[in-house]
Amino acid sequence: MARRGVAALARALAAREVSSVELATECLHAIERDRTGAGGGLGAFVHVDAAQTLAEARAADERRARGEAGPLTGVPVAHKDIFVTSYPRSRAPTTAGSRMLEGYASPFDATVVARLGAGEPGRAPGAGMVMLGKLNCDEFAMGSSNENSAFGPVRNPWDRTRVPGGSSGGSAAAVAAGLVPAATATDTGGSIRQPASFCGVTGIKPTYGLVSRWGMVAFASSLDQAGTLARSAEDCALLLSAMSGFDPRDATSAERPPVDLHAAMLAPRAGASAARPLAGLRIGLPREFFPAVLAADVGRAVRAALAELEKLGATLVDVNLPRTELSIPVYYIIAPAEASSNLGRFDGVRYGHRAEGAADLLDMYKKSRSEGFGPEVKRRIMIGTYVLSHGYYDAYYLQAQKLRRMIADDFRACFGQCDLIAGPVAPTVAWKLGAQADDPVKAYLADIFTLPASLAGLPGMSVPAGTGEGGMPVGLQLIGNYFAEGALLHAAHALQQATDWHLREPRA
Ligand code: GLN
Repeated sequence: MARRGVAALARALAAREVSSVELATECLHAIERDRTGAGGGLGAFVHVDAAQTLAEARAADERRARGEAGPLTGVPVAHKDIFVTSYPRSRAPTTAGSRMLEGYASPFDATVVARLGAGEPGRAPGAGMVMLGKLNCDEFAMGSSNENSAFGPVRNPWDRTRVPGGSSGGSAAAVAAGLVPAATATDTGGSIRQPASFCGVTGIKPTYGLVSRWGMVAFASSLDQAGTLARSAEDCALLLSAMSGFDPRDATSAERPPVDLHAAMLAPRAGASAARPLAGLRIGLPREFFPAVLAADVGRAVRAALAELEKLGATLVDVNLPRTELSIPVYYIIAPAEASSNLGRFDGVRYGHRAEGAADLLDMYKKSRSEGFGPEVKRRIMIGTYVLSHGYYDAYYLQAQKLRRMIADDFRACFGQCDLIAGPVAPTVAWKLGAQADDPVKAYLADIFTLPASLAGLPGMSVPAGTGEGGMPVGLQLIGNYFAEGALLHAAHALQQATDWHLREPRA
């Protein structure tokens, strides 16, 4: 049932073909079947509370019976466990994939959770979606494989010996396996687009500032952005419209009038026809996104999707993003620097795990942080502290900031020549669990195609584009100009109307 996706389920609810309680019950059964199935399941969920979910579903059905339902009321959704969920409203703990926060009960709901769910206290009612639970992720969203979670890895539904990608691995795997119709996720350097690509689902990371970061456990605040993983561009448009918009509690939230992204997605382009919906659209292909080392299977799938976009009327133009390779060192200086500062609050006093048996205060801090954080988080805190320290600040952090600006300028130049940018999401399909455990830098290098848009704050999508080695999904990345989510979704939707890659399902 969840595989039908958000738009179809919303229609079925509106037509009274199904109730929210029936939908929630089916999803809960699918989650339970997966958890108790052979091999111990996918590990996508870290928290499920069936009684709470069914209570929300009953409330949604009652709202509909009273004639107060919005289009998404009663549709199930699950949240990446990096969005805080409150007691008593949502009744779910928040861990951010870390021992540090095990059992943490937030006093409030993240704006994203509130807007999709019951609404913000004292403000407009929420969309009334029903929460199925919290989804596994890399610890504090640091990672590309979901193997950095303190609560175990997530498996890829297409091949359970492979990673689902990360850090939003639980979100992508749950959608791909049909356990949920859609999920929230966050992207700091690729954590929505890369797992979407690895699991064959559609994901969108909007422009920095479109969605409030209030209640998102912070990793690198100048990069963190919330978005969605779903079965189609249409489903992403519906969810993103409901969760985005100005929020006075986030100082970087964009003060812009709300946009109906679903309407923007459907609006025909000037000069377009039914056969050529993308007529006049210029898609830029950065040379640097097609290096000789790009895996052949990924290159083939991406080129097939580009050929489809051409058939739909788009024109492909060559562009340059000359600092693509530099985005790796730039990101892996800036993100750890911000993380080292953001994670200072987890000291066993203000937040988080407190160690037993400490000799004094300093010892308590040391023991609490040593026990609470996993190895990747510790590595990044050390790198971040180093690049911010006296004497190294100018050499690393300041240089990285300058380059970040130049990377954004490169995009600005490209958008003089094209309307959207396209390329691969990742250099390969999903790798085997454990394959990169010995060398974190290998995983960092695989972020090369997602980091540039993150550093520039631009919106990006991953759209299924067929399969590569081992029958594993490959995603096409589309990058838009600032706040051009409508144009991105329009192109992705046109592609999905003409092809069936996004409808393919893992066998098992
Ligand atoms: N893979 C990148 C990292 O490890 C991106 C993570 C993210 O977007 N949250 O930092």
